[in-house]
Formats: sequence, C-alpha cells, structure tokens
Amino acid sequence: MESKLLYEGKAKRVFATDNPDEVLISYKDSATAFDGQKKGTIVGKGKVNNLMSAAMFGYLEQKGIPTHFVRLVSQTEMIVKHVQIIPFEVVVRNVVAGSLSKRLGIPEGVVLDEPVREIYYKDDELHDPLVNDDHIRLLGKADQRTVDTLREMATKINSLMKPFMAARGLTLVDFKLEFGLFKGEIILADEISPDTCRFWDSQTNEKLDKDRFRRDLGGVEEAYEEVLRRISGGVNK
Ligand code: UDP
Repeated sequence: MESKLLYEGKAKRVFATDNPDEVLISYKDSATAFDGQKKGTIVGKGKVNNLMSAAMFGYLEQKGIPTHFVRLVSQTEMIVKHVQIIPFEVVVRNVVAGSLSKRLGIPEGVVLDEPVREIYYKDDELHDPLVNDDHIRLLGKADQRTVDTLREMATKINSLMKPFMAARGLTLVDFKLEFGLFKGEIILADEISPDTCRFWDSQTNEKLDKDRFRRDLGGVEEAYEEVLRRISGGVNK
C-alpha cells in the first residue's frame, strides 16, 4: 500500500497511494518545539495524534465541516485527500497562553470574552510570522475571500470543539488549524491533537498537551494517552 515518500515533516510522513486524489499520512513519535530547537520523542504520540485526529475530523464532518480525512489504515496511519496546503495557519484562542501571553503581556489563564484569532504565514525560513490582512495581500498567496473563509471556518470549528472538549473534562485553551484546497474547495487539513491544541483539565487546570514537553513538566506520554482516552471514551465528566 505505502509507496513513494512525498514529504517528511517534523511529526508526519506523507506517502503517495494508488489513487492520485489520496495520500497516506504516517504519524511519528518524534517531537519538536521552539521552532525546531528542542527535539525529542514522545512514545505513543503517533498513535494518539492519528486516532485523535481521525475522531475529531469525523465529529467535525458530521457537523458540516469539510475535512481531508478519508479513513484510518492503522493505529498510526490514515488516508486523506491530497490537498494543496494553503500557506497560512489559523490559531484560535479561548484562554490566554503561550505566545499571546508573551506578546501582549497578559498572564496565562485569563479567559477571553470572545475568541482571539490569529493568522501565521507558513514559512520555516521566516519562522512562521504573525500576519494581518494587509500582509497577506502583499504576499499574494491567498485572496481576501479565502482568508475570510479560513477565519469563519476556524470560528465555527472552535464553537464545535469547545463544548465537545468541555463534555470530556477538557478546557480548549487554544489550537492551530491548517486548511487545504481540494478540487477548488477549502477543507480542513493537517491534524487536531495535543501537538496542535492546548488542553487543560477542567477541574485542576493541569496541562494535558505538548506544553508538558515544551516546558519539561514530565508525564508527557501519560497526558497524550489521557486526552485520547477522554476523546475516545465519549462524555465522562
Ligand atoms: N501551534 C502549533 N504549531 C505551531 C505554533 C502553534 O500547533 O507552529 C499551536 C500550539 O500548540 C497552541 C496554539 O497553536 O495550541 C497557539 O500557540 P502559540 O502561538 O501560543 O505558540 P507557542 O507558545 O506554542 O510557541
């Protein structure tokens, strides 16, 4: 089934399949942080991120969000639609954390009245800079209508994911989304996992995401497994 390696990233490998409209994604256990400066392994991460992404894409599809997900192949592999990735990442925030806290000097944990949305330009050499609509126009890589669609889809996804996580005892602090073009349609791509979202336990505010790796908090593998357990187990709190 697996064939030509099309792309190898920090956390995934992408392979061609017999169907030119589909590719196979293989999730890895390797982890990076701080723009690739910190490297490590999170045992079982590939499985957690693959299975969790499949569950989230399935849920979102059911709620009317088009995604690249086609089917699971194994615990660490899925088939997805072969999209052309739009080179802008959308971050949605419900609680202040990470770079927002640093940039604006607001303490971590401040709950936002309205979600804060940010767009970053995907470019490793430039270290994925934060961009506004004028910058996006200047770059010429996406038109205003596309950018508006990305923001609207991200807002809708947040309003679907927040209660889904809350019902499983998780506060959805923030997350990053990537979108792709498939036969002219903008669809959700990449992954939804503890690598790309911040989750805090609703009762204790314990961090259950990649911040455990970034900040050397210990219990990294356990946190990833716990998130998958809550997502797969359905409503349990
Ligand atoms: N994020 C991501 N990939 C990136 C940058 C951010 O998945 O390259 C996610 C991150 O896990 C968090 C959210 O986007 O859930 C906001 O991240 P932030 O801007 O606070 O950056 P960080 O503190 O992670 O550097």
